[in-house]
Amino acid sequence: MYLAERVREVDASPTLAISSKAKELKRQGIDIIGLGAGEPDFDTPDHIKEVAIKAIEEGFTNYTVSSGILELKEAICEKLEENNNLKYKSEEIIVSSGAKHSLYNTLQSISDEGDEIILPAPYWVSYPQLINLAGGKPVILETMEENDFKLRPEDLSRLITDKTRGLILNTPSNPTGAVYNKEELEKIAEIAVENNIYIIADEIYNQIYYDEKPVSIASLNSKIKDLTILINGVSKAYAMTGWRIGYTAANKEIVDAMSKLQSHSTSNPNSIAQKASVAALIGSQKPVEQMVEAFQERRDYVVSRINQINGLSVEIPKGAFYLFVNATKLIGEEINGIQITDDQKLVKALLTEAEVAVVPGSAFGAPNYLRLSYATSLEELTIALDRISEFLGTKN
Ligand code: PLP
Repeated sequence: MYLAERVREVDASPTLAISSKAKELKRQGIDIIGLGAGEPDFDTPDHIKEVAIKAIEEGFTNYTVSSGILELKEAICEKLEENNNLKYKSEEIIVSSGAKHSLYNTLQSISDEGDEIILPAPYWVSYPQLINLAGGKPVILETMEENDFKLRPEDLSRLITDKTRGLILNTPSNPTGAVYNKEELEKIAEIAVENNIYIIADEIYNQIYYDEKPVSIASLNSKIKDLTILINGVSKAYAMTGWRIGYTAANKEIVDAMSKLQSHSTSNPNSIAQKASVAALIGSQKPVEQMVEAFQERRDYVVSRINQINGLSVEIPKGAFYLFVNATKLIGEEINGIQITDDQKLVKALLTEAEVAVVPGSAFGAPNYLRLSYATSLEELTIALDRISEFLGTKN
């Protein structure tokens, strides 16, 4: 069967192999605990669901303007002002079918064949593929755990060439939970302005933080705001992953280009989900606070347990709901007769021996690490950690 080169070159999700193995074991009746999921375990709050039901009953079920309804764009502008200290006009907003779709439209709109997009590693699994699909070339910027997995400005400067179109900046980060502070962002902004490169600021986790409130790079000054393509959505903060609403705030020229593309591919995002997203953004924020409180309790518990397990260590993440666990000490070891040659082997052993599913760091461009999601109940987390402790043993 003939397939276009562009899809032949897309790698299947590296997390897929592990999740299909986990599913197979579950089908066999084995009680696997999944710590691989990238979504809150909470349900969408009732007041949001009610607005969606009302939208259906009132017949809000037709096509909408391709770039999203004005009411939602205005709610997004309000939110950006309140949360991020940013002033955008509704013409500078485009609503898409999830933040992943916003990223897809962004990269299709700004990069030509061979353009370089700088991508700090560890990175979210979809970024390299989204860059490739747009004809671009991911240029990996390695970060270090000693720097909390945050990029060093000198490394950014070093990687910029004539072909550099932009930098992807995901703060708070999936998979590391790292959050850039204002001073760090100022240095990055300075380099971006000096070299006239875009900042693709993926702020999907910006309401899930535990210490300092994350700063938006676009809020630093008007020059960097003009170069920033800010992406966010309702999936994570409002437990709305299935509703598929994401949005982009950027210079009108970029937004217009993305709107053209969207009008010929997906048309408008789901009309009912758009109404529900208005309710999410302007309604009570109490459910978000409660969810973050629960995440914080789980984070503290999981960090302290992980740091007691043989061969594993982790720093306390400042945002999102993931731990990026250093497992370097286990690589090359033999555990219960299993040779742990790499992180994939370790993940497989954890799945079959401890019956816990996690994601290998190599999926995020950082081998010898494991990503654990704590968007699971404390009860499940306790059992999962008991099982991992039993398999790997505890420190002294
Ligand atoms: N960006 C990051 C860093 C993510 O982790 C995810 C989801 O896992 C997304 C974007 C996509 O979110 P959405 O559900 O809005 O497409």
